[in-house]
Amino acid sequence: MKTLNDFNFENKKALIRVDFNVPLNETFEVTDDTRIQAAKSTIIKVLEDGGSCVLMSHLGRPKGKEEKFSLRHIVDKVTEVIGVQVKFVDDCIGDKVSEAVSNLKSGEILLLENLRFYSEEKAGDIAFAEQLSKWGDVYVNDAFGTAHRAHASTAVIAQFFEKNKCFGNLLAKEIESIDKVLNNSEKPVTAILGGAKVSSKIGVIENIIEKVDHIIVGGGMTFTFIKALGGTIGNSLVEDDKLELALSILKLAKEQNTEIHLPVDAVIADAFSNDANTQIVDTTKISDGWMGLDCGPKTSEKFAEVIAKSKTILWNGPLGVFEMEKFATGTIELGNAIAKATENGAFSLVGGGDSVAAVKQFGFGDKVSYVSTGGGAMLEMLEGKSLPGIEAILK
Ligand code: AMP
Repeated sequence: MKTLNDFNFENKKALIRVDFNVPLNETFEVTDDTRIQAAKSTIIKVLEDGGSCVLMSHLGRPKGKEEKFSLRHIVDKVTEVIGVQVKFVDDCIGDKVSEAVSNLKSGEILLLENLRFYSEEKAGDIAFAEQLSKWGDVYVNDAFGTAHRAHASTAVIAQFFEKNKCFGNLLAKEIESIDKVLNNSEKPVTAILGGAKVSSKIGVIENIIEKVDHIIVGGGMTFTFIKALGGTIGNSLVEDDKLELALSILKLAKEQNTEIHLPVDAVIADAFSNDANTQIVDTTKISDGWMGLDCGPKTSEKFAEVIAKSKTILWNGPLGVFEMEKFATGTIELGNAIAKATENGAFSLVGGGDSVAAVKQFGFGDKVSYVSTGGGAMLEMLEGKSLPGIEAILK
C-alpha cells in the first residue's frame, strides 16, 4: 500500500483529491470543519517536504456552475485550519488553472473550483480526468467520503500517474482502521448495528458474521427480528418482506458461532414524537398503537456487559431515534459503554452516517479510537466490496 511516506515532495506538486464537501450556512460559512481538519496532515507533510499542493474537491450536488456551491466559500476556513494562505482559481480545468499551477511555488496551496461544475466528473470521463492529471507530479487520494465512487478525480485519474500515486494519511488511516476490525482484530470482536432498516445493513451483516464474535442489533431493525421470532411489535418499524431473511441471519450466526444479541426491552411511544406518552416493556410484547423507539434499561445493561469484555468494537447506526431526546438514552448508554471499553484498551471504530452524528452530538468523538469520515464508503467496505478510489491506487 503506497502512502505519502513513500515520496519526498521537494519541488514537486502534489495533486490531492480531498473531501471538502462541508456543510455551509445561509451566509456560506463552514459550520463543521471536520473534513478540512482531516486533510490537514496530508497537506502539511507535502509542504514540509518542500512541495506544493493543488487541492481538488466537490461540494454538494450542483447542476452545472452554481455559485452557491463554489469552493470559493471555504478558502478562508481552509487557510485558517492549515495555517497557510490558500490561493483559489475559479475553474478546475483550462488555461486559467494551467497558469495558476505553473505559478505555484514550494510551500504554497492552490484550491481548484468545484469538480462537479462539470458533469464529466461524476461520469468518470477519461478526457476530463486527463486534463486534471496535468496539475500535479504525484496524485494523492485522501477523499475517503467519495472512495466508493468511480469518478474522474477519485479513480479514473490514477491511470495517468503510473507509479506516482498514493493514499493520503486520512485514507490510509481509514483503510487501516477497518482492516484492524475485520481482518487483524484482537478477539472478542463485537459489531453493533443499529439504524432504521435491516435492508440497508444486510450486506454488512452477511460480510462480517463470520469475522466477529458478537453482533448487537438495535434501532428500528430490532423489530423485524422480533416479529420473525414470533413477538408482538405493535406499530414499530418493520420490513415484512425481510422476516425470512432475519431468520436466516439468526441461523447463519448459530452455524458460525457468532452470538446475536437483540434488545430485551424497549421504550415504546404512542406517537413518533418527543411529546408522545412512553412506557418501557418487553420487546416481544408491544401492543397495537405503540411503537418501539429506543432500547430499554435492561437492554443497555446487557449490551454494556458484552461491550465490556470486547477487545475490538465496531459501531454503525444508533440504537434508537436519538434525534429526539426522549429516545436517545439507549444510544448514549451504548456510547458510554464503548468509551469505557476503549479506556480499558479496546480498539473502537465508529462509522457510517448517523452514528457519527450521534457520537459528535453526545461528545464521544475523543473517547473512541477512530471516527470514520465516510458514510457510504465505510458501509461498502464493511460489505466487503472493493472501492474504486482504493483500487485505482493499488493497481
Ligand atoms: P441508518 O441511516 O440506517 O443508520 O438509520 C438511522 C436512523 O434510524 C436514525 O435517524 C434513527 O432515528 C432511526 N431509528 C433508530 N431507531 C429507530 C426505531 N426504533 N424506529 C424508527 N427509526 C429508528
